[in-house]
Amino acid sequence: MARSFNFSAGPGILPEPVLHQAASEMLDYKGSGMSVMEMSHRSKWYEDIQNKAEANLREIMGIPENYKVLFLQGGAHLQFSMIPLNLKNSGKADFWITGNWSEKAFQEAKKYISVQPVASGKANGFRAIPEVDVSMLSPEADYFHMTTNNTVCGTRIRGCDIPDTGKVPVVADMSSNILSEAYDVSKFGIIYAGAQKNMGPAGVTVVIIRDDLIRKTEPWVPTMLQYAIHADNSSLYNTPPCYSIYLCGLVFEWIKAQGGIPAIQKANEEKAALLYAAIDSSTLYKGLVEKKDRSLMNVTFATGSEDLDKKFAKEADALGMANLKGYRTMGGMRASIYNAMPLAGVEALVAFMKEFEAKNKPGC
Ligand SMILES: *Cc1c(COP(=O)(O)O)cnc(C)c1O
Repeated sequence: MARSFNFSAGPGILPEPVLHQAASEMLDYKGSGMSVMEMSHRSKWYEDIQNKAEANLREIMGIPENYKVLFLQGGAHLQFSMIPLNLKNSGKADFWITGNWSEKAFQEAKKYISVQPVASGKANGFRAIPEVDVSMLSPEADYFHMTTNNTVCGTRIRGCDIPDTGKVPVVADMSSNILSEAYDVSKFGIIYAGAQKNMGPAGVTVVIIRDDLIRKTEPWVPTMLQYAIHADNSSLYNTPPCYSIYLCGLVFEWIKAQGGIPAIQKANEEKAALLYAAIDSSTLYKGLVEKKDRSLMNVTFATGSEDLDKKFAKEADALGMANLKGYRTMGGMRASIYNAMPLAGVEALVAFMKEFEAKNKPGC
């Protein structure tokens, strides 16, 4: 069977050359006599894989020397807890609530510290990025939390729109748009991302953390939830998700081969522009979020009829365009066009949208 154009929001599409390479190295990794899944995480073989993955990530994101890169488990979800547990000092944090995931991060942090929403788009269903009222930021907050790309509704915050929080570190959930466009790492205290949207398979979460934020926690905090333990042990305190890290490493090499983030960003902007133009030039489809806040990664739109939306996703699927059904709270369609989605996938979707519109014009 031919491979689908997979528009899934996550786990998402991976670059085909990466899958081919992983397949060719599956039984015997570079003459080691075993697969990456079977080797000791203390072996020289594996050590090289992890070191190379980290070095490549540092290079493509321009991660400064005074930041550690950690490969952890527990998904972005566990970071919702680890961040307050590790950064707690004044016991206060400010939250920019721009989507379902930032709302979840806020609710989880509330278990441990005092949290304040400084802007929330919840009242209008997260259809726009609410402006941050900087006068509300508390200067003694332990951190300011934000989500750079809102996977569910399809909005994003650019690097140039990060508010000036002074000495308060900005902590960003970048799960769904890490490596998709340029962000200046030095503007953040912590960047975290589950791998399965734009980096690799599920199972590993990348945490990029400035050295001064690796603090001593309260003694009761579980060992596995302390950044210092993982930093001191080069993410090898316990068995890491070796195979997921290996695959992420292949994706980082693929990104380098494409020309790094600048080239990837350009391709992403072209793909998104093509799809948004198809939505805006149509009388059937409507974009679900404010234009200025549109995501490059998750494109949400609807026909206005639930039945037609269902029919759209079903017919597209039959043509090899998988997972276009929107998230249940948003309805409509969501096309996730991560780094690995080829332009041909977006072109095929746009062609299908035109065909579907011609056959299903309202009133016909
Ligand atoms: C998918 C997603 C999460 C949840 O990730 P898990 O790895 O499943 O915990 C959190 N934040 C954002 C922005 C996401 O897209």
